[in-house]
Formats: sequence, C-alpha cells, structure tokens
Amino acid sequence: MQIDPQFPANHQVIGKHRHADGTHFHLVWGPGRVDPDTAANERVAESYRTRGEEIVPLGVHGTAVAVDWDSCVADGACIEACPVQVYQWYRTEHDVPAVQMKDATSEGTGENNLRDGRRDYTDKSDPVREHDCIWCMACVSVCPPQAIKVEETNLQYHEKGAAAMA
Ligand code: SF4
Repeated sequence: MQIDPQFPANHQVIGKHRHADGTHFHLVWGPGRVDPDTAANERVAESYRTRGEEIVPLGVHGTAVAVDWDSCVADGACIEACPVQVYQWYRTEHDVPAVQMKDATSEGTGENNLRDGRRDYTDKSDPVREHDCIWCMACVSVCPPQAIKVEETNLQYHEKGAAAMA
C-alpha cells in the first residue's frame, strides 16, 4: 500500500531515531497501521512467523525522506538505488523488533548497503542518513509498494517536529 502522502498532517511524531554522530536524526511518525498487503506478502509473513514476532503498526521513518515501515516489504531496491547511501537495513545494527526502533541510535555505518543484505523479510529500509539526500528520486520509483516519499519541502515538518520534541 502506498505511503500516505499527507503523513505529516495525518500522523504525529512518536519517536526520534538518532544518528550516532550526535547531530543528525530522523523523526518517526505514527501511530501507523497494519498494511493488509504487507501482511499478505508470503515472504514477509513467513519471516515474522519464523521469528515469532507479530506484525504491528510501525509508522513512517523519516520526514523529507520517508519510508512507511508498515508498507515496506524489505525489497531493498531503494538501498541499491540510492547514490549517497541514505538507507541501511535497520537490523544491521539492531536485531530487534522494528517497533523498538522508534527511539534508537544508529551508527549508520553504511557497510551493508546491498539489496540482499536484509536479515530476513522482517527487516526494513531505514533512512539513517536522511540528511545526506540529494533529492534524485531514484529510490521512489523503484519501491514496489510505493512506500517511499521524498519531498524536500517536508524539511519544515522535520524542524517543527524536532522542536516539539525538544
Ligand atoms: S532521493 Fe536519491 S539521494 Fe535521496 S534517498 Fe532517494 S535515492 Fe537517495
């Protein structure tokens, strides 16, 4: 299911995923919803079953580079398409249920930027270096469920959300 293009208006900030550089971060917008298309994806469903994890609402990670984690099916095309390595598989650093990632801190080492670097299909593409985006839009068109929205003007919501959380 496509990301809600109006997610900053229809969601609230529920978390702040910090970069370990101590300066950068991306916001997490929620509450999100279980996407029936993602839940019906056999690879995703099987990976959740194998781990014994439930599919629960996760929301949207990032604001100007936003990935709807409820819609993400761990395809990974965005990870390979991005010329400046904005994304990484979140489980590369934190092999925990995705719902625990809304207030995480990540190094963003960029050492696992291969499409097939996912741990399994519970993994999600994390815009850990949102601040490095050059607005080329390569990631947007390759995402099968259209889970990504890149919108430079959404930086205003990043600033407002950050101020509200300060
Ligand atoms: S728009 Fe381009 S630079 Fe920005 S995250 Fe997508 S692929 Fe990377």
